[in-house]
Amino acid sequence: MVSYKDLGLVNTKEMFAKAVKGGYAIPAFNVNNMEQLQAIVQAASETKSPVIVQASKGARQYANPILLRYMLQGAVEYAKSLGWEKPQIVLHLDHGDTFETCKDCIDSGFSSVMIDGSHLPYEENIALTKKVVEYAHQFGVTVEGELGVLAGVEDEVVAEHHTYTRPEEVVDFATRTGCDSLAISIGTSHGANKFTPEQCTRDENGHLVPPPLRFDILEAIEKELPGFPIVLHGASSVPQEEVATINKYGGALKDAIGIPEEQLRRAAKSAVCKINIDSDSRLALTAAVREVFATKPAEFDPRKYLGPARDNMKKLYKHKIEAVLGSAGKAE
Ligand SMILES: [Zn+2]
Repeated sequence: MVSYKDLGLVNTKEMFAKAVKGGYAIPAFNVNNMEQLQAIVQAASETKSPVIVQASKGARQYANPILLRYMLQGAVEYAKSLGWEKPQIVLHLDHGDTFETCKDCIDSGFSSVMIDGSHLPYEENIALTKKVVEYAHQFGVTVEGELGVLAGVEDEVVAEHHTYTRPEEVVDFATRTGCDSLAISIGTSHGANKFTPEQCTRDENGHLVPPPLRFDILEAIEKELPGFPIVLHGASSVPQEEVATINKYGGALKDAIGIPEEQLRRAAKSAVCKINIDSDSRLALTAAVREVFATKPAEFDPRKYLGPARDNMKKLYKHKIEAVLGSAGKAE
């Protein structure tokens, strides 16, 4: 058993309480490789933003669970060396699918886990979430539950349509499970193609404009659960300049579209205190790599294409922290 405390990590409890009160949100960036982690740590250290580093079950297997644990321990020490005296870094399991997966993560140094029972019948979701909470809380690990289903594709998580969260269920769910935060479905979506062109309108330049998030549902949930930490999944903005670079250099991303940043900024000011961003960094990484491959075809030193990819991801993370989530300076 490895406690997250021994790795220098923190859970989400205090940072969420402050974020809800302060009207900002904590970034939750997915991690798959070293360059991504370097970029996250650099961005969070330079902005002094609390940060959630999250790994899906698939990403954890890809990195290797043991290596990932030591990478996060290294991330904390790296942050200190960059001048961030008390790094506030969470290692979170994204979309935990079973009690066993969550337990394994808790036992190996995760400070927070999500148990995603959103696809299950309501009572089964409660029973599973409660079981994970009871185990996790013994070790001070925080737990995110989910009510409602997001459309889109993310690793092993696939759904055709949204099922919006029902505000009348949230108090019962939070009370009976004891979860620390709740992921909801209000129109965000997994992946880089969040909406089909048919679901969108077009602006005067012919660009797709996605349907707005359901702020009415978010407000109804806040009314039911005042001050309770709410989480938004599938909240990438899909920057069109990255999509254009990818397509310019041989990519084929058609109609890739995300959530406008103004809407995320609005959400961050509410009880939404964790915003998940994965696709945007995938796009930033891919755009930079494609550009090097296309413009310098003789290059074969990985540092010469993964280095620019890292810098491009860092720029994106800092932009999200400073201009969208409002979390800069909240972990001085
Ligand atoms: Zn998700």
